[in-house]
Amino acid sequence: MKPTALVIGAGIGGIATAARLAKNGYSVTVLEKNEQPGGRCNQIIRDGHRFDIGPTLFLMPEVWEETFASLGEKFSGYLDLLRIDPTYKVRFEDGLQLELTSNIGKMQTQLEKVEKTAFTGFLNYIAEGSKHYKISLEKFVGRNFYNLFEYFSLLNLPLIFQLKALTKHYSNVSRFFKDERLKAAFTFQNMYLGLSPYDAPATYSLLQYTELAEGVWYPMGGMYAGIQALVKVAEKLGVRFVYNAPVKKLSVEGSKVTSAELEDGRIFTADIFIGNADLPYIYDQLLQDRVEAKKLNQKLYTCSTIMFYWGVDKQYPQIAHHNVFLGGDYKASFDRIFKDHTLPDEPSFYINAPARTDESAAPKRQDTLYVLVPVGHLDEKSNQDWDALVARARQKVLDRLAKEMNINDLKDHIKFEIIHTPKIWKEKFNLAKGAAFGLSHNFWQVGYLRPHNRHAKYKNLYFTGASTHPGTGLPIVLLSARLTTERILKEMGTITEKNMIAVPTAVKA
Ligand SMILES: Cc1cc2nc3c(=O)[nH]c(=O)nc-3n(C[C@H](O)[C@H](O)[C@H](O)COP(=O)(O)OP(=O)(O)OC[C@H]3O[C@@H](n4cnc5c(N)ncnc54)[C@H](O)[C@@H]3O)c2cc1C
Repeated sequence: MKPTALVIGAGIGGIATAARLAKNGYSVTVLEKNEQPGGRCNQIIRDGHRFDIGPTLFLMPEVWEETFASLGEKFSGYLDLLRIDPTYKVRFEDGLQLELTSNIGKMQTQLEKVEKTAFTGFLNYIAEGSKHYKISLEKFVGRNFYNLFEYFSLLNLPLIFQLKALTKHYSNVSRFFKDERLKAAFTFQNMYLGLSPYDAPATYSLLQYTELAEGVWYPMGGMYAGIQALVKVAEKLGVRFVYNAPVKKLSVEGSKVTSAELEDGRIFTADIFIGNADLPYIYDQLLQDRVEAKKLNQKLYTCSTIMFYWGVDKQYPQIAHHNVFLGGDYKASFDRIFKDHTLPDEPSFYINAPARTDESAAPKRQDTLYVLVPVGHLDEKSNQDWDALVARARQKVLDRLAKEMNINDLKDHIKFEIIHTPKIWKEKFNLAKGAAFGLSHNFWQVGYLRPHNRHAKYKNLYFTGASTHPGTGLPIVLLSARLTTERILKEMGTITEKNMIAVPTAVKA
């Protein structure tokens, strides 16, 4: 008999872990709270408009390729990737515009117009980012740590300094650029991890390297095509998905989880359990572990977002596929988000117009617009009036589009509007504090210091996803799925046709 695994949540981490376990001989069931898979990487289709609701930047395709290959499939047979270059246009309130591109000549012309030495700074910065990317992936992100000594080993310590893990990203970027706008243009990407560049380690210059050197891609059909492809592969491997199946509680006995109970009373048992729902939520709600939940609650969380999904009956060609609008006082805006947990006075925001690349995203001559405005996560102590904050964010977006792109009639052409606030991120996906990207990634919350991918006491409870090791972002969560599976196979013993019968259904402690 095959050993059984129960995955709680069909986010990208849950799907990929389920598929990998099935490929390795497990009988796997995935319980998903919502009506469809994908979690934060989801889609809304309305009146011919197709919105990706969360991720829009497809990064590190090589990680996807590795995932599909390990499942016995060819990635290119499932997704049609297109490189988006220039990746995006960054707009500043004073009128400066920069087109970030892998075209070195174009970068040189643009940067030297702003600051004489900026191009040299840029080359050095990207070279450092490349070093950070390679060391991080190989030595920290792409592997499990089973104890603190492994993490802080004598071999790793010099690498931690090489990665500038103790230097703040913003102060490090000042070594390469003097102009405040350039410093902003090469650090705002920290927001992808839900981090302020004033707190993030300088290690994250790897993000700019990833985007410009490895590329920003778009899967035709939208980001959700990636989820659909993974689900197809998982189902082919025998994974069973159960939708509209919110787990209410995990029952435990001694050092094991014994079953998962759904809100409708159904009970599922298995040999091993994998939590893909947000990790702090699992400790708090499903395990009701007050002590751990309190500790997790005190950790740092990423920011949240106010989202506008607009179905528009007109096209605005001025809006490119990816557009970044940076707000006035850069430092103050991060303080407002990360310290005051609110909306900055002059918010930065991002607009995605997928129909620029993929006509199937909107009806003919119409537009599908996604607006992401970073905002503080939910905080009971802050006075958060979401209706007022949403109204202010919306007006700021419309004002800047009018001022900088001469788009004055958008309000009249919005056929419908769907709004997500941090409250929706929390309610729909059970994200702790509505933090869109999960637990934060400062020095104290990465590597072995991040919540581990196996429970300390319940030896058959594993975790996969953004709030466990290695962290957030689609490719990083795919790595999480790989690492969690590797750990399970290591601790359970690899299953082969030969030993399948012999593997005990109970997990060895
Ligand atoms: C607005 C936004 C923009 C982003 N942009 C990018 C980007 O451009 N590029 C990028 O790479 N990443 C981006 N990310 C990050 C990326 O989306 C996440 O890191 C990734 O999707 C997390 O996947 P996951 O599997 O860890 O979790 P989730 O996607 O949260 O999946 C967890 C699943 O568990 C389910 N669940 C929760 N509770 C229960 C329960 N009790 N019972 C059963 N099921 C349950 C949830 O419904 C969900 O489906 C973005 C995220 C957001 C929110």
